Parts: sequence; C-alpha cells; structure tokens
Amino acid sequence: GLNERQMTTEDGSVEAAAPRPARILEVNRLVHTFGDFTALNDVSLSANSREFVTLLGPSGSGKSTLLRILAGLELPTRVDALILDGHDVADVPANRRNVATVFQHYGLFPHLNVLENVEYGLRVRKVAKAERRQRALRMLEQVQLADFAHRNIAKLSGGQKQRVALARSLVLEPVILLLDEPLGALDEKLRIDMQVELLQLQRSLGMTFIYVTHSQEEALTMSDRILLMNQGRIVQEGTPEDMFDRPASRFAASFMGMEN
Ligand code: ADP
Ligand code: MG
Repeated sequence: GLNERQMTTEDGSVEAAAPRPARILEVNRLVHTFGDFTALNDVSLSANSREFVTLLGPSGSGKSTLLRILAGLELPTRVDALILDGHDVADVPANRRNVATVFQHYGLFPHLNVLENVEYGLRVRKVAKAERRQRALRMLEQVQLADFAHRNIAKLSGGQKQRVALARSLVLEPVILLLDEPLGALDEKLRIDMQVELLQLQRSLGMTFIYVTHSQEEALTMSDRILLMNQGRIVQEGTPEDMFDRPASRFAASFMGMEN
C-alpha cells in the first residue's frame, strides 16, 4: 500500500522504505472559536496508520470545522500539538501538508475530462507528463473508471463524479485522506454501494481515512473506530461495537440508536 512508501528494486521486487509511524495523526487539546462561539472545545484525537476513523455527530457538532483544521484550510485558535506523520503542523497551511480532502460537492473542473482532472494536482506539483499519466490511469483503475478516462465530466453520474474526486485526491498519495460527508449527495442505493467501495479502496491502499458523517448507520458499517461528537466535544470513542452496545451517555444512546 501507499503507506509503506514502497520502492521497486532492480530485480523488480518491492521493498518498504522508511515506514510511517504507526501513529499517523495526533491532536492534543484543540480549541477553535468563531468570535465568542466555541466550535471545538478541548478536542484530542489520534489515528493510526491504515485506520478508518469516523467523526460522527449531529449537524453543528463541529465535524467539518475539525476536518478543515486537519486539512490546514483553517488554523486552530489554540492547540497543544497537531502531529501529522511525525511533524508538528499546527501552523502549516494546507498547501504544505500532505493530506487530501474529498467533499460532498466534488469541485471537479467541468472543462477538463476525467483523466485531466485526476492529473491536475500532479501537474501543479510539476510531475513529468509520462509519470503523471501513468499514475492517473492507475488510480482510475483503482476506482473502476479506467474506461472513462476521456469522458467529459458533465456526462458522468453522481457516483462516477465522486469516484473521480476520490481518484484526484488519492493520486497525490496523501498521508491521510479526509472525507467530509462524501456520499451525502447520493441516493440511498448508490450510497450503500459506495460505502462498500470506499472501504475496499481504503483497505487495498492501506491508507488512513478520517471520515465525517452524521449517519450512525454509515459510521457503524465502515469504521475501525468512531469518535462521537456533540457541541464541539468528542463525547465518546470506541469501536462500532463499543459505541452501539455500550453508549456512555444518554446522548450517545439516543444518537447511536437513531434511525436515519
Ligand atoms: P458540522 O460539520 O458538525 O455540521 P460545523 O463544523 O460545520 O459542524 O459547525 C460547527 C459550529 O460552528 C456550528 O454551530 C456552525 O454554525 C459554526 N461555524 C462553522 N463555521 C463557522 C464560521 N465560519 N463562522 C461562524 N460560525 C461557524
Ligand atoms: Mg459538516
């Protein structure tokens, strides 16, 4: 997987370069305010390499704000440490962090075709054309869109667009992929198919995913670990089983048992 930073040796075998630390993300005591409103209150969390971690909580609980801070799109008001892949990035903006984000609104370039969209970030990073193309095509295969490489973005379905958005992020080989309600715009049948696909992709790439959702069903199905948020705090964390069987508060019990 990508997290092993594999290198191919002369005899064609693959060996791992310096392995990533097992603890890929650590956030200690994060506070974020908007004016006098505290959106995130003393939030600490961590994620291990290859882990699927879900930030789950009702609308307004601070999930997107936390994700934007992890992405570097917003700098936190206060944090003791924000360690990403062994480096403190608390003050490092988005363009210098090796993370990628997928939002519900795909933000694809409508005037570029599928392949060009996936290549775009590599072009910005000045990756040579041949390598760019090869990496983009390989990633399109991973998301089962190889046959659509030259298709116009406007001609794709919602699910296909979301897969292009995924490929466009993953091709950059981020340390962590951040996903903010990525399936929110899809209808139910497609959403369930995409849950399975996303999980398979995460497993096969061996990448760390931080996944935001307000759907307890989605969190229970997909996560290695769930961080349950309410009013700017992480109120409980655990495996899906823990969260469902042993909710630690009335809020957790009602939220985890909620029908969607
Ligand atoms: P979630 O993603 O869980 O729905 P958000 O992180 O978007 O929650 O928002 C958390 C709280 O912070 C909400 O009350 C929201 O209104 C507030 N908030 C988010 N962004 C801003 C902003 N730019 N300015 C002021 N308040 C904000
Ligand atoms: Mg949100």
